[in-house]
Amino acid sequence: MNLNLNNSKILLDYLTDNSNDPIVTLTEDFKIKEYNKAFERLVDDPHNMKSTFFEETFGKISASPEKHTDESHNIKEISASYRSKSGSVTHLQGILIKKNNEIVIIFKNFMICESQIIDEISKMNIEMSNLARELSKKNFQLKLANEKITKLLNTDFLTGLYNRKCFFERLEELVSLKKRKRCFNIGVIFADIDFFKSINDTYGHDTGDFVLIKFSQMLKESLRKEDIVARIGGEEFCIIVQCTEDNFLVNISEKIRKNCELLIFENTDIKITASFGATFYREWEEIDCVIKRADENMYAAKSSGRNKVIFSP
Ligand code: GH3
Ligand code: MG
Ligand code: MG
Repeated sequence: MNLNLNNSKILLDYLTDNSNDPIVTLTEDFKIKEYNKAFERLVDDPHNMKSTFFEETFGKISASPEKHTDESHNIKEISASYRSKSGSVTHLQGILIKKNNEIVIIFKNFMICESQIIDEISKMNIEMSNLARELSKKNFQLKLANEKITKLLNTDFLTGLYNRKCFFERLEELVSLKKRKRCFNIGVIFADIDFFKSINDTYGHDTGDFVLIKFSQMLKESLRKEDIVARIGGEEFCIIVQCTEDNFLVNISEKIRKNCELLIFENTDIKITASFGATFYREWEEIDCVIKRADENMYAAKSSGRNKVIFSP
C-alpha cells in the first residue's frame, strides 16, 4: 500500500491519534512539540514535557546508523527509556524520521519492565481481593436468605411455633437418636383449647387469633429451650419433651394446664382452659402409634370433662 498523504492532513491526524504506537514530534533542537494519545498514555505528565528537551526525559537516544536516506528523509532506528514517577522504567524502541526542520519519533513494541509487571500484578491482586470480598458478602446474603426460607418452611405463620411438617420431622429425628442412645424417654403431649369456637363466635376471629398467639407464648415460656412446641392444627398443639424421670411428663403437662387457666387476655374477660393427652414413645413402635395414643388421651380428657391431663405410658 502506498499512500500519498501530502495533501491529506486530516487523514494523517486521524491515523496519528488512533495509532497504538506513541508518536512525538520534536523541533530541530530536539524539543518536544506535539504528541499523540498513545504517547499521553505512555508518560505521566505529557503537558509539562512540551518545549522541554526530549533527552531530559527519555535519556540519551542511541541510534543506529541512518538506514534509509532519500533526498528529503533521514530514518534511524533508535532506543530510549522512560522512568515513570513510580520509578518503573520502560525501555522503548522506535524510529526517528528527520525531514527538513522537523523530527518525528514513532515508538514501537515498547517493552514492559519488571516493575510494571509487578504494578499490574498488584492491581490484579487488589481487584481479586475486591471480588473475593464482594463474593463473601453475596454468600452471607445468600445464607441469610436460606435461613429465612428454612424458617418459613418450618414455622407456623400465626404463632411462630413449629408447624405440623417440622413437628413430624423433629419427632422422627428424636426417635432415631433414641434408637442409638437409650438414655432418655420421648414424651409427647397433645393440647387442644377447650370451646375455642365459642371465642371466635363471641369475640371475632381476630380475638381468636390473639388467644392462639398468647397460648403459644405461654407454652414456650412453660417449657425448656430444647423442647419442641408445634401448632399442628387450628387450636391444636403438640409438644415433645425429653424425659429422664417417669413423672416429669405428667408434671409438665399439669404445669401447662394451670398456666393456661392463669392466662389474661388484656381488655377482655376471656378465660380459657385446655385438655391434654400425654404419653411416652414406646421403643420400636411406629411414630403413628405414639401420635394416636396421645390423641386418644386428649380426647379422653375432653370427654371426661375437659381442662385435665390424661396420661398413659
Ligand atoms: P373442643 O373443646 O371440643 O375442642 O371445642 P372447640 O370449639 O375448641 O373445637 P372445634 O373443633 O369445634 O372448633 C375449633 C375452632 O377453631 C373452629 C375454627 O374456626 C377455629 N380455628 C381454627 N383455626 C383458627 C385460626 O387460625 N384462627 C382462629 N381465630 N380460629 C381458628
Ligand atoms: Mg378445641
Ligand atoms: Mg380441636
